[in-house]
Amino acid sequence: MSSSSGAPATTAAGAVVHSVPSYLQADHLGPWGNYLQQVDRVTPYLGNLARWVETLKRPKRILIVDVPIELDNGTIAHYEGYRVQHNLSRGPGKGGVRFHQDVTLSEVMALSAWMSVKNAAVNVPYGGAKGGIRVDPKKLSMGELERLTRRYTSEIGLLIGPSKDIPAPDVNTNGQIMAWMMDTYSMNTGATATGVVTGKPVDLGGSLGRVEATGRGVYTVGVEAAKLTGLALSGARVAVQGFGNVGGIAAKLFAEAGAKVVAVQDHTGTIFNGNGLDVPALLAHVKTRGGVGGFAGADVMKPEEFWGVDCEILIPAALEGQITKDNAGQIKAKLVIEGANGPTTTEADDILHDKGVLVLPDVIANAGGVTVSYFEWVQDFSSFFWSEDEINARLVRIMQEAFAGIWQVSQEHKVSLRTATFIVACQRILHAREMRGLYP
Ligand code: NAD
Repeated sequence: MSSSSGAPATTAAGAVVHSVPSYLQADHLGPWGNYLQQVDRVTPYLGNLARWVETLKRPKRILIVDVPIELDNGTIAHYEGYRVQHNLSRGPGKGGVRFHQDVTLSEVMALSAWMSVKNAAVNVPYGGAKGGIRVDPKKLSMGELERLTRRYTSEIGLLIGPSKDIPAPDVNTNGQIMAWMMDTYSMNTGATATGVVTGKPVDLGGSLGRVEATGRGVYTVGVEAAKLTGLALSGARVAVQGFGNVGGIAAKLFAEAGAKVVAVQDHTGTIFNGNGLDVPALLAHVKTRGGVGGFAGADVMKPEEFWGVDCEILIPAALEGQITKDNAGQIKAKLVIEGANGPTTTEADDILHDKGVLVLPDVIANAGGVTVSYFEWVQDFSSFFWSEDEINARLVRIMQEAFAGIWQVSQEHKVSLRTATFIVACQRILHAREMRGLYP
């Protein structure tokens, strides 16, 4: 990658920036541009640490890899893969791997940065990283998917390792893919290294409670916010976009608490039932049919009507950039809980704020997954495994404490919960950076 050499720029904090790498200069920065706006909003609250803020605006390392595989029909296909380590000041890199046809470098950079913020927000000892391959895995056979995963793992083997950078599942990746990644890394290094990835099957050093952890974290912060704002969960109407690992589990937990899941949207359709969908039946339907489309116990809605559904709680749990200036005005919910990473653009965030909608931002709301990933990594190092009750209790305690601290900061500074989370997290990251100093 070449870097451009424009005139040196000076940041608000006085640091001189001598060149801006080309991959940070694109006119349309997509999710990374959204992240940069979030950093700009927090900078006035960083005090003397603002001197280091440029650190947050540049990923530490970007690796772009070619991933060639032989398809079942004998042809050779090439896919583009990425691993980005955004910041390693607080510990090894940590963040998922996404397989999706729309994956871009900008997206992976933003996701890696949000991991830095999220890990600091819940105070687990990690930096932030993320990976991905631009591929539609649904078009691959099992054998092709395995070859793709193994080749990608070998290619990013330069960067990953139990003490260096620890991948995990994200969109379209799961325990089986983590098992292949763990095996490939172990074969390449000559020793079984269970701690190189998290989200593994339980029989291979995975943790009980990991599959449900992100959804459980979404639910936990939802309960805390409902208490603080006087919203009754029993009978509350919930709309969920994305009914995979995060959205499906969150919907199940809200329904078990007496809420009514009235609308669900995924890549196969948008469904509605004003009396509340039968969530266990919908989960079973998705397992066999691959999506919510065709579910018998609901009416079909037009996709664009989803955002205006009458509800108290809205959970975007699919992809980024879903709540935009074009649909934020339609949202009727009192509480938006971001299960997905980066689902709300900065303009939409402002619209929701002006309407009095409380947004629980991704960087705290979906941190349950990485928290139990941390537990998995700790268990792998000690080869001593905890009970599911212990894991869930520790998860809930960490989420509640982190959320309470962020809530307090938001009240003190009269800022949104997103800015409050960034204040807490960026101070931790930059304080670590300052204490470590620059080497050489
Ligand atoms: P998943 O693959 O299990 O599910 C993704 C869901 O999104 C599916 O229901 C899919 O149909 C839906 N979807 C995809 N494209 C869509 C579209 N265009 N419109 C509507 N729905 C669409 O993925 P997941 O693990 O549940 O991840 C969902 C989000 O949560 C992602 O943003 C991910 O980064 C984030 N997240 C996941 C975890 C985790 O532990 N899995 C942790 C933190 C954050």
